[in-house]
Amino acid sequence: MTKTKVLMVTSECAPFAKTGGLADVVGVLPSQLNAQGLDCRVIMPLYRQIKEKYIKQLAFMRWTTLKIGWRSMYSGLFSMEHEGVQYYFIDNEFYFNSQSIYTEYSYDIERFSFFQRAVLDALGAPMNFYPDVLHCHDWQTGMIPCLLDAHFRPHGYFTDMRTVYTVHNLKYQGVHGVNQIADLMDLPSRYMTDYGILKDGVPNFMKAGIVYSDMVTTVSPTYAKEIFLPFYGEGLDGVLRNYSYKVHGILNGLDLDVWNPVTDEFLEKQYGIEDFAKGKAANKRAMQEAMDLERVPDVPLITMITRLVDQKGVDLLLRVLDEMMEEDCQFILLGTGDGYYENEFRQAERRHQSNMRSCIMYSNDMSHRLYAAGDIFLMPSVFEPCGLSQMISMRYGNVPLVRGTGGLKDTVTPFDPVSGEGNGFSFPNINAHDMLFLLKDAMKLYRNDPEAWNKLVYNGMTGDYSWETSAQAYIDLYDKLLQS
Ligand code: ADP
Repeated sequence: MTKTKVLMVTSECAPFAKTGGLADVVGVLPSQLNAQGLDCRVIMPLYRQIKEKYIKQLAFMRWTTLKIGWRSMYSGLFSMEHEGVQYYFIDNEFYFNSQSIYTEYSYDIERFSFFQRAVLDALGAPMNFYPDVLHCHDWQTGMIPCLLDAHFRPHGYFTDMRTVYTVHNLKYQGVHGVNQIADLMDLPSRYMTDYGILKDGVPNFMKAGIVYSDMVTTVSPTYAKEIFLPFYGEGLDGVLRNYSYKVHGILNGLDLDVWNPVTDEFLEKQYGIEDFAKGKAANKRAMQEAMDLERVPDVPLITMITRLVDQKGVDLLLRVLDEMMEEDCQFILLGTGDGYYENEFRQAERRHQSNMRSCIMYSNDMSHRLYAAGDIFLMPSVFEPCGLSQMISMRYGNVPLVRGTGGLKDTVTPFDPVSGEGNGFSFPNINAHDMLFLLKDAMKLYRNDPEAWNKLVYNGMTGDYSWETSAQAYIDLYDKLLQS
């Protein structure tokens, strides 16, 4: 049987270049797909940081010039194998030699316009790979299905290839002026319509991805339904409703080697399902010591690890934070982001010196230690396409308390003390006091019913957060597409 060939097109991929969850997904999914018998490869820009770090492993494949508007631009193609996956890189130092992956918004539109055209130009003979499925991710690759339709298929190229478009974050859509995009993309005017790539009169890459791809996916089943509603749709809910027949939700998994309390070298004490009580107690004590908090083993330690942005429900927490801190509890926040929120939490720490700490920084080591130390993990998101933090917290026996939206709704099941089923706490409405009252109930359970609490921790720690199930769901989608 021939292997299904998939090419992932992405602006970031761990470990080469990462700013967010997209890099994690594209960093793990290809090897998972290959383990299940596919031939999945990845193509991305050759950013300066990749060139510097991997110069010795990179193999030059070819160079050419690409016409972008009036300019002729150099486009190089390099390749490299890394941990069993074949990677391709588009080289152009004019566009990709910057210090960071993303630069200035309108310049990024030009950089990724070039990237998308360069990918299609390299497809097939130059890279010696003819994918059955081209799998594009987020706005930076949203125009690819449209460009295929405009530049290649009418001439008989790639007519059997299918396209999948995955939305990781609906908020960033890649919007620019009509004239600029017509120039950068060399697009006939028939695409510049409300039925084509225009949204509110201007080209929108994400809309183009939704309209012209064969299948659209997003990163959880609940979010895949929520985005049909104006509240979650970021202005594209109407478009998504029109194409609802091709929208699917597939949950992300975790990298279980990175997030494993049994082997985690950042922890004070490693622990597994048999000795979590001892292990978590040791990590909690070490964290209290490091934070100069009172060493009280039986007081619930509430934790939060997050980008400090409104999406994460930070306003709900700030609304009831003083009331929360009056409870017999401790609270440690690890986060960075919006300056307003950072200051609010710094000030709150001053008001609650005895039991609250605000760590306004990004620290991977500390995040590991805090997941392990905490008893309750707060994640009251306003919207959450998938969310990894709640899954990590469960794996570390830190019970999540979430707002039931998107991926949080799909992964956190409210605990039922009678049946012993469930792995966390969940409230439905964006309401600060609903969150606070549920938190008070959770703390009551923690103090008064250790047996039920331990069951809750056990349920979380033994959950399946692997990529295997999700990889299989992607394979089923590819199969369905290729049979159509
Ligand atoms: P999002 O991608 O929307 O930020 P996720 O829950 O999917 O949310 O993933 C967030 C990831 O970033 C988690 O791995 C979390 O541990 C990590 N993280 C967030 N803030 C920090 C921080 N200040 N320090 C260390 N890690 C953080």
